[in-house]
Amino acid sequence: MGLLEEEPRRLHSGQSRCPYCGLLQDRVVTLEQDWVLLEPDMFPLAHTVPAEHRWIELSDGRVAVYGVGPPDPYQRCRIEHRLACSAQPLPDLWPWLTTLRGENARRAERQAAPEVPELPEQWPDVG
Ligand SMILES: [Zn+2]
Repeated sequence: MGLLEEEPRRLHSGQSRCPYCGLLQDRVVTLEQDWVLLEPDMFPLAHTVPAEHRWIELSDGRVAVYGVGPPDPYQRCRIEHRLACSAQPLPDLWPWLTTLRGENARRAERQAAPEVPELPEQWPDVG
């Protein structure tokens, strides 16, 4: 209370700083009238990016996720900054691969586990 309210420092229009790493990211409107924070100046070939993470720029400047295989091998797309952010954990890019890794982790664990000889069950003497 009684503190002077400081005007938040205006950044270049359409950009904001990542709260995790401090680098600039582009704020772009999506088809759903939402915002997405994209990596600036990065336009990878769409087919090299997992389908759910391909943001294609539309003619009006908005972006949309392009979930199907791009028919044009030279189609470029954009990616979210969080995928490139060094201060955030990488999300699950390839779900089937993550499943496979989990499966392999369990297999490796089983293989590494020392062989425990099964103890014969101790039956109380009957009779
Ligand atoms: Zn960041």
